[in-house]
Amino acid sequence: MKKTILIPVLTFLILLTALILHGNRIPSYVSREEPALGTFVAIKIEKTQGYEALLDKAFENIRQLEKVFSAHTPDSELARLNNLKKAEVSFHLLELIKKSTVVSEITGGAFDITVLPLIELYKQAELSGNPPVEKEIRECLARTGWHKIEIKGTTVKIPCGLDMGGIAKGYIVDKTAEFLKEHGVKNGLVNAGGDIYCFGRPPRGEKWRIGIQSPSRKDVLITDLYVSGFAVATSGDYERYLLIKGKKFGHIIDPVTGKTVQNSPAGITVTAVDASTADALATAFYVMGVEKSIKTADRLNGVEVFIIDGAGKTHQSRNFSNFALP
Ligand code: ADP
Ligand code: MG
Repeated sequence: MKKTILIPVLTFLILLTALILHGNRIPSYVSREEPALGTFVAIKIEKTQGYEALLDKAFENIRQLEKVFSAHTPDSELARLNNLKKAEVSFHLLELIKKSTVVSEITGGAFDITVLPLIELYKQAELSGNPPVEKEIRECLARTGWHKIEIKGTTVKIPCGLDMGGIAKGYIVDKTAEFLKEHGVKNGLVNAGGDIYCFGRPPRGEKWRIGIQSPSRKDVLITDLYVSGFAVATSGDYERYLLIKGKKFGHIIDPVTGKTVQNSPAGITVTAVDASTADALATAFYVMGVEKSIKTADRLNGVEVFIIDGAGKTHQSRNFSNFALP
C-alpha cells in the first residue's frame, strides 16, 4: 500500500477505535417503576454494578418513608403525632415539619400543613352530600395555622392534625435521589407521579428533558424543560377533586378562607433545588394564583414556575426560559 493512502486509512482506523471505545463508556440505563405513595414511582439510573439490589433497597426505603408521613394510615408516625398532639418525633418527620414551616413562611401561609381539619370537613361533606357551612369552617380555622406548631428539640406540639400530602412525595423523591448518589450513581431521575428530581445526564444529551402535558389532553405536550441537578414538580387540579351535590371541589385548601380553591389554574409546574420545595410550592401556587405565584418565584433562587390558567393561557416566571434549552 502506498504511503499516501496508508496514513489516511490508519488515521481513520484510530478514530474509529476511539469512537467505539468512547461509545462503550456512555453508560446504559435501567428503569424500574412500582406503585407507591398513592401513585407510580419511577427510577431511572445508569447501570452500575449491583444496580438490581440498589433499586430493591431504594424502593424499600420509599415504603419505609411512606409509613412515616401518611395521614391516612392509622399506624404511620404522623398519625401517632396527630393523635397525641405532642410527641418526640423521628429525624425525617422533624425535618419535614420544619421544612413545611419554611415554605409556609415564603408563601405567606398559602402552604400550611395544619389544614387537616378542613380537609376532613370536606371529606365528610362529600360523604353526607352537604357542603360545609360557614360556622363549621370557622370552627376549623380556629384550630389551624402553621404558626401554632411548636418545636422544641425533637419534640413537636401541634394545634390540630397535620396533613403532609402536599410535600411528603417531594421529600421522599429527594431522599431517594440522595440515597442513589451516596451509592455511587452519577446519573439518574426519580419521578413520583410528577414530583421529579434528576441529576447527572440522561442517555442522550446533557440534561434531562421533562415535558409539560396539556391539562386537558395528556397526549399533547405544551413545552419541554431541560434540567440537571434540579427538581420539577407538576400539580394538576384536574386530577383530583371532591364531588359534593354534583359540584366539583378542588383538593387544595386556601388556609385563610378555609375553603377549597375554586377557579384555580389548570396546571402548575415548578422548579426548585429540591423536590420537597418544588412539591410544596406547586400546592401553594394553586392557592396564590397566577400573579402572586410568579412574583414569589421571581424572588426565590432556583424557583421558576409555568402556569396554565383555567382558560388555557400560559404564564411563566422571569427566568423560566433558562430551562427551555437542552
Ligand atoms: P397532587 O399530587 O395531587 O398534585 P399536591 O402536591 O398538589 O398533590 O398536594 C395536595 C395535597 O396537599 C392535598 O391532597 C392535601 O393533602 C394537601 N393540602 C391541601 N391544601 C393545602 C395547603 N394549603 N397547604 C398544604 N397542604 C395542602
Ligand atoms: Mg404539591
